[in-house]
Amino acid sequence: MVLIVQKYGGTSVGDMGRIRNVARRVARTRQEGNDVVVVLSAMSGETDRLIQLAYQVCENPDLREYDALIATGEQVSVALLAITLQSMGISAKSFLAPQVRIITDSAFSKARIQDVEVRRLQKELRAGTVPVVAGFQGVDKEGNTTTLGRGGSDTTGVALAAALKADVCEIYTDVEGVYTTDPNICPEARKLSRITYDEMLELASLGAKVLQIRSVEFAKKYNVPIHVRSSFSDKSGTFVTKEDDKMERVLVSGVTYNKSEARITVVRVPDRPGTASRIFTPISDAHIVVDMIIQNTSADGYTDLTFTVPKADFKKALKLVKKTADEIKAQEVLADENIAKVSIVGAGMVSHAGVASKMFTALAKEGINILMISTSEIKISCVVDAKYGELAARVLHQAFGLDRGELRKEL
Ligand code: ADP
Ligand code: ASP
Ligand code: MG
Repeated sequence: MVLIVQKYGGTSVGDMGRIRNVARRVARTRQEGNDVVVVLSAMSGETDRLIQLAYQVCENPDLREYDALIATGEQVSVALLAITLQSMGISAKSFLAPQVRIITDSAFSKARIQDVEVRRLQKELRAGTVPVVAGFQGVDKEGNTTTLGRGGSDTTGVALAAALKADVCEIYTDVEGVYTTDPNICPEARKLSRITYDEMLELASLGAKVLQIRSVEFAKKYNVPIHVRSSFSDKSGTFVTKEDDKMERVLVSGVTYNKSEARITVVRVPDRPGTASRIFTPISDAHIVVDMIIQNTSADGYTDLTFTVPKADFKKALKLVKKTADEIKAQEVLADENIAKVSIVGAGMVSHAGVASKMFTALAKEGINILMISTSEIKISCVVDAKYGELAARVLHQAFGLDRGELRKEL
């Protein structure tokens, strides 16, 4: 018998009609002879609403209580789906993270899954019951409620699929799969029928929120095939899998656009060993993830250091950097929240020259100034002024021919 983990996102459970739609799909999957474990996100908008409530009370809510609050959205959706399935004559039970035992570390608001117990879920499956599991939440070793970061129910889905050795993890969302760029900002975006874990990791880390990056890391580590598809149609979506010989290595498989970072520049940093470490250690101690880092060549014993951090951690990072800048006698600290990062991603880039220059030329033609650049084997990112972000994504999408032609041979 095939075991399928089906994860449904916020839009897919946005109202009672949509919850009934999910229940019908679950029923059909079972009738087709499969075992199903369901993972749900909160109803769309609910997590945002809860976060706003916390910030209405105070600017800096205690993160343990913040997680206790924002994990509640998923409790509502799983119970509603279980009731709906039962009303259709299907045995179903909702489960929260402590009931399954989805164990995480204690990094509230961005906890990482350490262990998933499967005994209870397997028992329910054997009894013919559909387990409906709350995504996004975990429990730490002390029994505190934790959450996995925004979009974290994807990671719950894949982690359960890995632990249960499921045949596939289906991620149901509001678009028909993974596209060459966000279909909501570029109407010419095209659906990819397949993409490798590595390409998807890059897309996710660069802002394609269709899958949370941790979910792709899990899928790659445990070799869980992911099928991203729409809960509103029966069309096949995108398979995220390991690379195989039949897969053509396309030059550029996608373009991403991300507005969630801010830029900090430390001006005239004395250029001597240890200064970068002094600037970045307090930031990493505060669990803030630094993304792009650029240091200019030193002129007259001083250099400028520019880097990006998530907007959510921006104020905290700025405070820490200002303190260090004073200590090391840097001239000043500049900050810019109005930036966007556009990136091109593709496994084929490894073996092709001229991709970067093509990207820069395409942006230059539109008069878009590049503020920062970073590259890896399979991606190139440019930071631009936020107001040009969407335009830059569309321009690159066209420049690399993603709006036409065959992307990847259908298998
Ligand atoms: P869910 O609530 O189902 O988890 P999300 O909003 O988290 O859905 O993710 C789906 C959204 O991801 C899409 O509506 C789309 O705007 C966005 N997205 C960004 N980049 C891409 C991409 N390359 N392919 C598909 N969707 C993308
Ligand atoms: N409900 C959570 C969020 O909005 C988790 C998720 O959607 O995956 O971030
Ligand atoms: Mg999501």
